[in-house]
Amino acid sequence: MTHIFDITRPITPTLAVWPGDTPYSTEYLLRMDAGASVNLSTITFSGHCGTHSDAHFHYDPNGERLAQMPLDAYIGPATVIDLTDALPDGGPILPEHLAGVDLARVQRLLVKSKASFVPDDRWDENFVYLSPETAQLLVDRGLRLFGTDAPSVDPQESKTLTAHKTLRTGNISILEILQLQDIAPGEYELIALPLKTDNDGAPVRAVLRREEGRTGGREDERIIPSSLPPFPKERSV
Ligand SMILES: [Zn+2]
Repeated sequence: MTHIFDITRPITPTLAVWPGDTPYSTEYLLRMDAGASVNLSTITFSGHCGTHSDAHFHYDPNGERLAQMPLDAYIGPATVIDLTDALPDGGPILPEHLAGVDLARVQRLLVKSKASFVPDDRWDENFVYLSPETAQLLVDRGLRLFGTDAPSVDPQESKTLTAHKTLRTGNISILEILQLQDIAPGEYELIALPLKTDNDGAPVRAVLRREEGRTGGREDERIIPSSLPPFPKERSV
């Protein structure tokens, strides 16, 4: 039996976004309870709200847009490691934090940290990020994708985006704001395809898939439910 673990933050009006960024909102152009034949909504949100993929264009003016990013990076074997206890106050992920990881074998590395335990409506700026040495190490080891539950691979105050740009030299794709709270360290299959747009980033529906009997993950549930707010009746136009 295949287990599917949802590692996506629910996109709601109260989902915290990067300070100053555009939060999610929706407006209904048509509503069935107002006599329309269909419900039809318009969605507004930042390309970096909730669980999302960064296009190289986000940090490189000549980099690939989202639609040009290589799809194979976002599907395939992934290793989840847990640094929650190693970095209880956030801060840089150093090479020694990855000492137990066989980076020569790992293609996609997902880091679980204290960020997964921050509620959806709260923003914690003291998150884990990649030190320059660690980012270079991932490039040297030929990683395909780096995923983090934190909002960025660089510290919140960074203007140089050193880790983003270092990962870019190795064509490493980036996923941010994963929700790994209920995910045990171990081996999975990742599926988190980016939207086919020319944007610099966009939310993804990220899941981990695992065959029964392998190590890691939560055994008692096929899909981790996400909580969404009720139908926004007050938002008719
Ligand atoms: Zn981003």
